[in-house]
Amino acid sequence: MPEKCILILLDGLGDRAYASLSYRTPLQAARTPVMDRIAAEGANGIYHPQAVGLALPSENAHFALFGYDIKDFPGRGALVALGAGVDFSAGDVGILAHFANVFEKNGILYMGDEKAPGTEFEAKALAETVADFETENVRIHFHRFQGLQGVLTLKGEVSRHITDTNDMINGIPLCEVLPWDTHKNDPAAQKTSRVLKKYLTWVYHTLKTHPVNFARTTRGLLPLNCLVTQRAGQLDKVVSFEKRFGLKGLSIASNNIFGGLARYLGMDFMMVSDSKKAGEDLAKRINSAVSLLDKYDFIHVHTKTPDEAAHRKNPVLKKEIIELLDEGLGKVIDVLFSHPEILLVLTSDHSTPSSGPLVHSGETVPVVFCGKGIRRDTVCCFDEISASQGCLSCLRGPEIMYLIINHLERSKLMGIMDTPFDQYFWPGNFKPFRLR
Ligand SMILES: [Zn+2]
Repeated sequence: MPEKCILILLDGLGDRAYASLSYRTPLQAARTPVMDRIAAEGANGIYHPQAVGLALPSENAHFALFGYDIKDFPGRGALVALGAGVDFSAGDVGILAHFANVFEKNGILYMGDEKAPGTEFEAKALAETVADFETENVRIHFHRFQGLQGVLTLKGEVSRHITDTNDMINGIPLCEVLPWDTHKNDPAAQKTSRVLKKYLTWVYHTLKTHPVNFARTTRGLLPLNCLVTQRAGQLDKVVSFEKRFGLKGLSIASNNIFGGLARYLGMDFMMVSDSKKAGEDLAKRINSAVSLLDKYDFIHVHTKTPDEAAHRKNPVLKKEIIELLDEGLGKVIDVLFSHPEILLVLTSDHSTPSSGPLVHSGETVPVVFCGKGIRRDTVCCFDEISASQGCLSCLRGPEIMYLIINHLERSKLMGIMDTPFDQYFWPGNFKPFRLR
């Protein structure tokens, strides 16, 4: 039976049916002989990390897919700060922030252009100007990453339970910074919203008259006069992936957010970079995973490329990217199938519609389990519709991890307590019975 799991995750793979693809999804329309072979040799189903219809970001979806309760998700801002390696400890708040163009009307700030472009030189100068702020014993620092993007860290008596200012739609007002309803009487949430509002107001007034923005307006460009914020987060205590599932885990991905998530859950992380060849990148990542199987029991191999293609709102481009990924899989499929100890899981985290206004959408994604001893159904195509005819039916939330533990022959019979912590695997890392 399989002893190790490689989970290949094609981010944002699920999609909708488009006339330009003869009313098929990009995955249905794509030529994918290798994914189809995996489907034909495995157990197929559809998956949603929480509840069908809910649109999830990748990090929340992965948190649930890795077997955690989505209610315990610490907030993207915290994971980004953790993944970026900035000064960020338990108790601090991390908030996603980037420079954007806003305009003032009747005392209200409106989003002018959320994605107004700027040069590296401009971004650096603006970021240096608004990097530090302190009020009411809360220290705020803006850490810029690449381009206009970054993360704010707040240190002091702070709370993550505050609203975003960025609703991602041009022409509508920014949202007020407020404590969540659930925390409206919490002094830390009240203080955090007050302090953040003071900082963002100062940023706006400071950047309005910044030389970079004078230069931009004289060239006919929109000023980058605001930091807009989203998805505050704060690290909580969490039981590690290894303690819950008994698997030493590794995540291979090209984005810091997965580094932050891996670190948070006690998994190792391998940062890789994206070239222009999505298929070759995926093949390389899978080869790395295979070569590390003696060190790890569970390896998550990730590619963001289908999601990125969908965000460009082009179903045909997404279909082409999927075909490249299939070619990449073709380079390593024989290696994967020649290792009987590998449990191969191929799936996605969420659907990303290649058309329409939604960022992500709530439809299910296909999933296939493949390896020695695993049931084979009659599904022979890997896509959202064919997969729904498979023997796994609809999996939700942590069920993927339960099934992985099950197929690695480590499922614990419920009720067994060989360790004080009720872990999912068996035998646990129990304390031996000593006579004295
Ligand atoms: Zn996305």
